[in-house]
Amino acid sequence: MITRHRTRQLHVGNVAVGGDAPISVQSMTTTKTADVDGTLAQVYALAGAGADIVRITCNEVEAAQGLAEIVPRSPVPIIADIHYQYRLALAALEAGVQGLRLNPGNIRKEDQIKAVAREAKDRGVPIRVGVNAGSLDKDLLEKYGSPVPQALVDSALLEIRYLQDVDFEDIKISVKHSNVPSMIESYRLLSKTVDYPLHLGVTEAGPPPAGLIKSVAGIATLLNEGIGDTIRFSLTADPVEEAKAGRQLLENLGLRERKGLDLIACPSCGRAEVDVIDVATRAQTALEAENLPIQVAVMGCVVNGPGEAREADIGIAAGRGRGHLFIKGQVVRVVPESEMVEALLDEARKLVEEGVESRLAHAEANAAELAAAAREELIQIQGDANRSQDRRAKVAEVAKSD
Ligand code: SF4
Repeated sequence: MITRHRTRQLHVGNVAVGGDAPISVQSMTTTKTADVDGTLAQVYALAGAGADIVRITCNEVEAAQGLAEIVPRSPVPIIADIHYQYRLALAALEAGVQGLRLNPGNIRKEDQIKAVAREAKDRGVPIRVGVNAGSLDKDLLEKYGSPVPQALVDSALLEIRYLQDVDFEDIKISVKHSNVPSMIESYRLLSKTVDYPLHLGVTEAGPPPAGLIKSVAGIATLLNEGIGDTIRFSLTADPVEEAKAGRQLLENLGLRERKGLDLIACPSCGRAEVDVIDVATRAQTALEAENLPIQVAVMGCVVNGPGEAREADIGIAAGRGRGHLFIKGQVVRVVPESEMVEALLDEARKLVEEGVESRLAHAEANAAELAAAAREELIQIQGDANRSQDRRAKVAEVAKSD
Protein backbone atom coordinates (compact mmCIF):
# COMPACT_ATOMS: atom_id res chain seq x y z
CA MET A 1 0.00 0.00 0.00
CA ILE A 2 1.52 3.31 -1.09
CA THR A 3 1.12 6.28 1.24
CA ARG A 4 1.17 9.44 -0.84
CA HIS A 5 2.86 12.65 0.21
CA ARG A 6 -0.01 15.02 0.75
CA THR A 7 0.12 17.96 -1.63
CA ARG A 8 -2.22 20.86 -2.27
CA GLN A 9 -4.94 20.25 -4.79
CA LEU A 10 -5.60 22.24 -7.95
CA HIS A 11 -7.80 21.69 -10.97
CA VAL A 12 -6.78 21.52 -14.60
CA GLY A 13 -10.24 22.06 -16.06
CA ASN A 14 -12.32 19.27 -14.55
CA VAL A 15 -9.31 17.11 -13.57
CA ALA A 16 -8.17 17.41 -9.95
CA VAL A 17 -4.41 17.14 -9.43
CA GLY A 18 -2.77 16.70 -6.03
CA GLY A 19 -4.24 16.06 -2.60
CA ASP A 20 -6.21 12.83 -2.68
CA ALA A 21 -7.04 13.05 -6.40
CA PRO A 22 -6.16 9.98 -8.51
CA ILE A 23 -2.75 10.32 -10.14
CA SER A 24 -3.40 11.60 -13.63
CA VAL A 25 -1.82 10.64 -16.94
CA GLN A 26 -0.59 13.29 -19.35
CA SER A 27 0.73 13.18 -22.87
CA MET A 28 1.56 15.69 -25.56
CA THR A 29 0.52 16.04 -29.18
CA THR A 30 3.10 15.91 -31.96
CA THR A 31 1.04 17.64 -34.66
CA LYS A 32 1.33 21.29 -35.70
CA THR A 33 -1.13 23.07 -33.40
CA ALA A 34 -2.33 25.24 -36.31
CA ASP A 35 -3.64 21.99 -37.85
CA VAL A 36 -6.80 21.97 -35.77
CA ASP A 37 -8.38 18.79 -37.10
CA GLY A 38 -5.14 16.82 -37.05
CA THR A 39 -4.39 17.93 -33.49
CA LEU A 40 -7.91 17.19 -32.30
CA ALA A 41 -7.76 13.71 -33.81
CA GLN A 42 -4.59 13.08 -31.81
CA VAL A 43 -6.12 14.52 -28.64
CA TYR A 44 -9.05 12.10 -29.01
CA ALA A 45 -6.65 9.19 -29.60
CA LEU A 46 -4.66 10.14 -26.49
CA ALA A 47 -7.79 10.46 -24.37
CA GLY A 48 -8.95 7.04 -25.64
CA ALA A 49 -5.59 5.53 -24.70
CA GLY A 50 -5.76 6.80 -21.11
CA ALA A 51 -4.59 10.44 -21.06
CA ASP A 52 -6.51 12.56 -18.56
CA ILE A 53 -4.85 15.81 -19.67
CA VAL A 54 -3.15 16.68 -22.97
CA ARG A 55 -0.41 19.25 -23.53
CA ILE A 56 -0.12 21.08 -26.82
CA THR A 57 2.66 23.35 -27.96
CA CYS A 58 1.87 27.04 -28.34
CA ASN A 59 4.93 28.15 -30.24
CA GLU A 60 3.51 30.73 -32.66
CA VAL A 61 0.48 32.95 -33.13
CA GLU A 62 -1.15 30.41 -35.47
CA ALA A 63 -0.78 27.78 -32.72
CA ALA A 64 -2.57 30.02 -30.20
CA GLN A 65 -5.31 30.60 -32.76
CA GLY A 66 -5.54 26.83 -33.29
CA LEU A 67 -5.94 26.36 -29.52
CA ALA A 68 -8.98 28.66 -29.58
CA GLU A 69 -10.69 26.09 -31.81
CA ILE A 70 -9.21 22.96 -30.22
CA VAL A 71 -9.98 23.66 -26.55
CA PRO A 72 -13.80 23.84 -26.82
CA ARG A 73 -13.87 20.59 -28.85
CA SER A 74 -11.42 18.61 -26.74
CA PRO A 75 -12.64 15.69 -24.58
CA VAL A 76 -9.93 16.42 -21.96
CA PRO A 77 -8.37 19.59 -20.49
CA ILE A 78 -5.64 21.20 -22.58
CA ILE A 79 -2.36 22.63 -21.29
CA ALA A 80 -0.42 25.05 -23.49
CA ASP A 81 3.32 24.46 -23.56
CA ILE A 82 5.19 27.77 -23.58
CA HIS A 83 8.86 28.47 -24.21
CA TYR A 84 10.64 31.83 -24.67
CA GLN A 85 7.62 34.02 -25.51
CA TYR A 86 5.49 35.02 -22.56
CA ARG A 87 3.05 36.73 -24.92
CA LEU A 88 2.10 33.32 -26.28
CA ALA A 89 1.14 32.31 -22.73
CA LEU A 90 -1.22 35.30 -22.63
CA ALA A 91 -2.56 34.34 -26.08
CA ALA A 92 -3.10 30.72 -24.95
CA LEU A 93 -5.05 31.95 -21.92
CA GLU A 94 -7.17 34.04 -24.24
CA ALA A 95 -7.72 30.88 -26.32
CA GLY A 96 -9.22 29.24 -23.20
CA VAL A 97 -6.62 26.65 -22.22
CA GLN A 98 -7.12 24.98 -18.83
CA GLY A 99 -3.43 25.00 -17.92
CA LEU A 100 -0.07 26.51 -18.78
CA ARG A 101 3.42 25.06 -18.66
CA LEU A 102 6.18 27.66 -18.40
CA ASN A 103 9.87 26.80 -18.72
CA PRO A 104 11.80 28.92 -16.18
CA GLY A 105 14.96 28.26 -18.19
CA ASN A 106 13.80 30.34 -21.11
CA ILE A 107 11.20 32.77 -19.76
CA ARG A 108 13.33 34.51 -17.18
CA LYS A 109 12.06 38.06 -16.84
CA GLU A 110 10.27 38.61 -13.55
CA ASP A 111 7.78 41.17 -14.92
CA GLN A 112 6.81 38.83 -17.77
CA ILE A 113 6.28 35.84 -15.47
CA LYS A 114 4.19 37.98 -13.13
CA ALA A 115 2.09 39.31 -16.03
CA VAL A 116 1.25 35.73 -17.04
CA ALA A 117 0.52 34.73 -13.42
CA ARG A 118 -1.89 37.65 -12.92
CA GLU A 119 -3.80 36.75 -16.07
CA ALA A 120 -3.86 33.04 -15.17
CA LYS A 121 -5.09 33.89 -11.66
CA ASP A 122 -7.94 35.98 -13.04
CA ARG A 123 -8.98 33.07 -15.21
CA GLY A 124 -8.47 30.33 -12.54
CA VAL A 125 -5.87 28.55 -14.68
CA PRO A 126 -2.98 26.65 -13.02
CA ILE A 127 0.64 26.95 -14.10
CA ARG A 128 3.21 24.18 -14.19
CA VAL A 129 6.71 25.33 -13.48
CA GLY A 130 8.41 22.94 -15.87
CA VAL A 131 12.13 22.81 -15.13
CA ASN A 132 14.17 20.74 -17.55
CA ALA A 133 17.80 19.75 -17.06
CA GLY A 134 18.49 20.32 -20.73
CA SER A 135 17.28 23.92 -20.69
CA LEU A 136 18.22 25.00 -17.18
CA ASP A 137 18.50 28.69 -16.27
CA LYS A 138 22.01 29.67 -17.43
CA ASP A 139 22.88 31.48 -14.17
CA LEU A 140 22.16 28.31 -12.21
CA LEU A 141 24.08 26.23 -14.69
CA GLU A 142 27.06 28.52 -14.16
CA LYS A 143 26.67 28.38 -10.38
CA TYR A 144 26.43 24.58 -10.13
CA GLY A 145 28.50 23.64 -13.19
CA SER A 146 25.96 21.02 -14.33
CA PRO A 147 22.23 20.37 -13.91
CA VAL A 148 22.50 18.72 -10.49
CA PRO A 149 19.29 18.09 -8.51
CA GLN A 150 19.77 21.16 -6.31
CA ALA A 151 20.12 23.37 -9.43
CA LEU A 152 16.81 22.09 -10.81
CA VAL A 153 15.06 22.64 -7.50
CA ASP A 154 16.53 26.15 -7.16
CA SER A 155 15.25 27.01 -10.63
CA ALA A 156 11.73 25.93 -9.64
CA LEU A 157 11.90 27.82 -6.32
CA LEU A 158 12.95 31.04 -8.03
CA GLU A 159 10.00 30.88 -10.42
CA ILE A 160 7.61 29.98 -7.61
CA ARG A 161 8.67 33.08 -5.69
CA TYR A 162 7.67 35.28 -8.64
CA LEU A 163 4.30 33.54 -8.78
CA GLN A 164 3.76 33.82 -5.03
CA ASP A 165 4.60 37.55 -5.20
CA VAL A 166 1.35 38.05 -7.11
CA ASP A 167 -0.55 35.64 -4.83
CA PHE A 168 -0.57 32.89 -7.40
CA GLU A 169 -0.74 29.45 -5.75
CA ASP A 170 -2.24 27.12 -8.39
CA ILE A 171 1.20 25.72 -9.07
CA LYS A 172 2.41 22.33 -10.26
CA ILE A 173 6.12 21.60 -10.58
CA SER A 174 8.30 19.28 -12.60
CA VAL A 175 12.08 18.87 -12.41
CA LYS A 176 12.76 16.54 -15.32
CA HIS A 177 16.12 15.05 -16.07
CA SER A 178 17.15 12.49 -18.69
CA ASN A 179 19.41 10.76 -16.18
CA VAL A 180 17.21 8.53 -14.02
CA PRO A 181 19.08 8.72 -10.67
CA SER A 182 19.33 12.54 -11.03
CA MET A 183 15.63 12.75 -11.88
CA ILE A 184 14.73 10.68 -8.81
CA GLU A 185 16.97 12.75 -6.54
CA SER A 186 15.60 16.04 -7.90
CA TYR A 187 12.01 15.07 -7.14
CA ARG A 188 12.89 13.69 -3.71
CA LEU A 189 14.54 16.99 -2.86
CA LEU A 190 11.65 18.98 -4.25
CA SER A 191 9.02 17.00 -2.36
CA LYS A 192 10.84 17.73 0.90
CA THR A 193 10.81 21.43 0.07
CA VAL A 194 7.31 22.25 -1.24
CA ASP A 195 3.76 20.94 -0.96
CA TYR A 196 2.70 21.81 -4.50
CA PRO A 197 1.59 18.90 -6.71
CA LEU A 198 4.42 17.30 -8.66
CA HIS A 199 4.39 16.27 -12.30
CA LEU A 200 6.77 13.34 -12.85
CA GLY A 201 8.74 12.49 -15.96
CA VAL A 202 12.09 11.38 -17.29
CA THR A 203 12.80 13.87 -20.05
CA GLU A 204 13.98 12.81 -23.51
CA ALA A 205 13.72 9.15 -22.51
CA GLY A 206 14.02 8.06 -26.16
CA PRO A 207 12.34 5.31 -28.17
CA PRO A 208 10.91 2.15 -26.58
CA PRO A 209 11.90 -0.20 -25.14
CA ALA A 210 14.82 1.75 -23.58
CA GLY A 211 12.67 4.89 -23.19
CA LEU A 212 9.92 2.92 -21.48
CA ILE A 213 12.38 1.29 -19.09
CA LYS A 214 13.97 4.63 -18.14
CA SER A 215 10.56 6.21 -17.60
CA VAL A 216 9.26 3.33 -15.51
CA ALA A 217 12.47 3.22 -13.46
CA GLY A 218 12.18 6.91 -12.58
CA ILE A 219 8.44 7.36 -12.29
CA ALA A 220 7.63 4.08 -10.52
CA THR A 221 10.42 4.53 -7.97
CA LEU A 222 8.98 7.90 -6.95
CA LEU A 223 5.35 6.78 -7.04
CA ASN A 224 6.25 3.92 -4.71
CA GLU A 225 7.68 6.47 -2.29
CA GLY A 226 4.39 8.38 -2.46
CA ILE A 227 5.85 11.17 -4.58
CA GLY A 228 3.98 12.40 -7.67
CA ASP A 229 0.51 13.60 -8.57
CA THR A 230 0.54 13.46 -12.36
CA ILE A 231 2.86 11.67 -14.79
CA ARG A 232 4.09 11.75 -18.37
CA PHE A 233 6.19 9.25 -20.30
CA SER A 234 8.32 11.26 -22.78
CA LEU A 235 8.86 8.68 -25.50
CA THR A 236 10.21 9.06 -29.00
CA ALA A 237 7.16 7.23 -30.33
CA ASP A 238 3.52 7.73 -31.22
CA PRO A 239 2.21 9.65 -28.18
CA VAL A 240 -0.62 7.13 -27.91
CA GLU A 241 2.08 4.75 -26.62
CA GLU A 242 2.96 7.32 -23.92
CA ALA A 243 -0.62 7.56 -22.76
CA LYS A 244 -1.07 3.78 -22.74
CA ALA A 245 2.18 3.27 -20.83
CA GLY A 246 1.27 5.91 -18.25
CA ARG A 247 -2.12 4.41 -17.67
CA GLN A 248 -0.79 0.87 -17.47
CA LEU A 249 1.91 1.85 -14.99
CA LEU A 250 -0.67 3.36 -12.65
CA GLU A 251 -2.95 0.33 -13.01
CA ASN A 252 -0.08 -2.07 -12.33
CA LEU A 253 0.89 -0.17 -9.20
CA GLY A 254 -2.73 -0.29 -8.04
CA LEU A 255 -2.96 3.51 -8.22
CA ARG A 256 -5.76 3.56 -10.79
CA GLU A 257 -8.60 1.16 -11.45
CA ARG A 258 -8.17 -1.12 -14.42
CA LYS A 259 -9.90 0.46 -17.38
CA GLY A 260 -8.91 -1.91 -20.13
CA LEU A 261 -7.34 -5.21 -20.93
CA ASP A 262 -4.49 -6.71 -18.89
CA LEU A 263 -2.95 -9.43 -21.01
CA ILE A 264 -0.52 -11.73 -19.30
CA ALA A 265 1.33 -14.43 -21.21
CA CYS A 266 3.98 -16.95 -20.35
CA PRO A 267 7.42 -16.23 -21.77
CA SER A 268 7.28 -19.58 -23.63
CA CYS A 269 9.87 -22.32 -23.29
CA GLY A 270 10.77 -25.66 -24.80
CA ARG A 271 7.45 -27.07 -23.58
CA ALA A 272 5.34 -24.62 -25.61
CA GLU A 273 2.86 -26.33 -27.88
CA VAL A 274 2.20 -23.19 -29.98
CA ASP A 275 3.99 -20.03 -31.06
CA VAL A 276 3.14 -18.13 -27.87
CA ILE A 277 4.35 -14.78 -29.24
CA ASP A 278 2.07 -15.07 -32.27
CA VAL A 279 -0.99 -16.20 -30.29
CA ALA A 280 -0.45 -13.56 -27.58
CA THR A 281 0.00 -10.78 -30.16
CA ARG A 282 -3.12 -11.77 -32.07
CA ALA A 283 -5.10 -12.11 -28.84
CA GLN A 284 -3.91 -8.71 -27.64
CA THR A 285 -4.94 -7.01 -30.90
CA ALA A 286 -8.37 -8.67 -30.91
CA LEU A 287 -9.06 -8.07 -27.20
CA GLU A 288 -7.78 -4.48 -27.15
CA ALA A 289 -10.20 -3.61 -29.91
CA GLU A 290 -13.03 -4.65 -27.55
CA ASN A 291 -11.52 -2.81 -24.55
CA LEU A 292 -12.66 -5.45 -22.07
CA PRO A 293 -11.63 -4.65 -18.48
CA ILE A 294 -10.34 -8.14 -17.62
CA GLN A 295 -7.11 -10.02 -17.12
CA VAL A 296 -6.48 -12.57 -19.86
CA ALA A 297 -3.73 -15.19 -19.91
CA VAL A 298 -2.14 -16.83 -22.94
CA MET A 299 -0.10 -19.87 -21.91
CA GLY A 300 2.09 -22.03 -24.11
CA CYS A 301 1.21 -25.42 -22.60
CA VAL A 302 -1.57 -27.06 -20.67
CA VAL A 303 0.94 -28.73 -18.33
CA ASN A 304 1.57 -25.58 -16.33
CA GLY A 305 -0.64 -22.94 -17.98
CA PRO A 306 -4.03 -23.14 -16.21
CA GLY A 307 -2.42 -23.56 -12.78
CA GLU A 308 0.13 -20.78 -13.15
CA ALA A 309 -2.47 -18.37 -14.52
CA ARG A 310 -5.30 -19.33 -12.18
CA GLU A 311 -5.58 -15.75 -10.91
CA ALA A 312 -6.43 -14.50 -14.42
CA ASP A 313 -10.11 -13.97 -15.21
CA ILE A 314 -9.78 -16.07 -18.32
CA GLY A 315 -7.03 -17.77 -20.26
CA ILE A 316 -6.09 -20.31 -22.86
CA ALA A 317 -3.38 -22.95 -22.83
CA ALA A 318 -2.17 -25.01 -25.78
CA GLY A 319 -1.67 -28.76 -25.87
CA ARG A 320 -1.83 -31.66 -28.33
CA GLY A 321 -3.27 -29.55 -31.16
CA ARG A 322 -5.95 -27.93 -29.01
CA GLY A 323 -6.60 -24.81 -27.00
CA HIS A 324 -7.86 -25.27 -23.44
CA LEU A 325 -9.95 -22.32 -22.34
CA PHE A 326 -10.01 -21.73 -18.61
CA ILE A 327 -11.81 -19.35 -16.27
CA LYS A 328 -10.16 -18.72 -12.90
CA GLY A 329 -7.98 -21.77 -13.53
CA GLN A 330 -10.91 -24.12 -14.35
CA VAL A 331 -10.95 -25.52 -17.90
CA VAL A 332 -14.36 -24.82 -19.47
CA ARG A 333 -13.92 -25.46 -23.18
CA VAL A 334 -11.53 -27.23 -25.55
CA VAL A 335 -11.16 -25.94 -29.11
CA PRO A 336 -8.95 -26.74 -32.12
CA GLU A 337 -5.60 -24.91 -31.92
CA SER A 338 -6.43 -22.89 -35.05
CA GLU A 339 -9.46 -21.38 -33.25
CA MET A 340 -7.72 -20.40 -30.01
CA VAL A 341 -7.85 -16.63 -30.47
CA GLU A 342 -11.43 -16.55 -31.75
CA ALA A 343 -12.62 -18.79 -28.91
CA LEU A 344 -10.78 -16.68 -26.34
CA LEU A 345 -12.39 -13.51 -27.65
CA ASP A 346 -15.84 -15.11 -27.71
CA GLU A 347 -15.52 -16.42 -24.14
CA ALA A 348 -14.07 -13.11 -22.90
CA ARG A 349 -17.06 -11.20 -24.24
CA LYS A 350 -19.47 -13.65 -22.56
CA LEU A 351 -17.52 -13.49 -19.32
CA VAL A 352 -17.81 -9.71 -19.17
CA GLU A 353 -21.51 -9.87 -20.03
CA GLU A 354 -22.55 -12.77 -17.80
CA GLY A 355 -19.95 -13.01 -15.01
CA VAL A 356 -17.71 -15.83 -13.74
CA GLU A 357 -20.35 -18.01 -12.06
CA SER A 358 -22.55 -18.14 -15.13
CA ARG A 359 -19.67 -19.03 -17.45
CA LEU A 360 -18.39 -21.71 -15.09
CA ALA A 361 -21.92 -23.17 -15.07
CA HIS A 362 -21.75 -23.34 -18.89
CA ALA A 363 -18.48 -25.33 -18.84
CA GLU A 364 -18.41 -28.20 -21.35
CA ALA A 365 -18.92 -31.50 -19.50
CA ASN A 366 -15.68 -33.16 -20.60
CA ALA A 367 -13.44 -30.04 -20.87
CA ALA A 368 -11.59 -30.64 -17.61
CA GLU A 369 -11.06 -34.33 -18.47
CA LEU A 370 -9.73 -33.53 -21.94
CA ALA A 371 -7.32 -30.98 -20.43
CA ALA A 372 -6.17 -33.47 -17.79
CA ALA A 373 -5.60 -36.13 -20.48
CA ALA A 374 -3.62 -33.70 -22.66
CA ARG A 375 -1.60 -32.67 -19.62
CA GLU A 376 -0.80 -36.29 -18.73
CA GLU A 377 0.11 -37.05 -22.32
CA LEU A 378 2.52 -34.10 -22.40
CA ILE A 379 4.07 -35.06 -19.09
CA GLN A 380 4.65 -38.57 -20.43
CA ILE A 381 6.31 -37.16 -23.53
CA GLN A 382 8.19 -34.26 -21.96
CA GLY A 383 8.45 -35.12 -18.30
CA ASP A 384 6.78 -33.26 -15.47
CA ALA A 385 8.33 -29.80 -15.28
CA ASN A 386 7.54 -29.58 -11.62
CA ARG A 387 8.36 -33.25 -10.94
CA SER A 388 5.13 -33.29 -8.96
CA GLN A 389 4.59 -37.07 -9.33
CA ASP A 390 8.07 -37.78 -7.95
CA ARG A 391 7.53 -35.35 -5.13
CA ARG A 392 4.16 -36.86 -4.22
CA ALA A 393 5.68 -40.34 -4.08
CA LYS A 394 8.54 -39.11 -1.91
CA VAL A 395 6.18 -37.24 0.43
CA ALA A 396 4.08 -40.39 0.83
CA GLU A 397 7.23 -42.41 1.50
CA VAL A 398 8.38 -40.01 4.21
CA ALA A 399 4.90 -39.96 5.80
CA LYS A 400 4.83 -43.76 6.03
CA SER A 401 8.34 -44.18 7.44
CA ASP A 402 8.85 -44.61 11.22
S1 SF4 B 1 3.24 -22.25 -19.53
FE1 SF4 B 1 4.27 -24.01 -20.44
S2 SF4 B 1 5.18 -23.19 -22.33
FE2 SF4 B 1 4.70 -21.45 -21.05
S3 SF4 B 1 6.60 -21.06 -19.93
FE3 SF4 B 1 5.31 -22.34 -18.62
S4 SF4 B 1 5.97 -24.44 -19.07
FE4 SF4 B 1 6.76 -23.14 -20.74
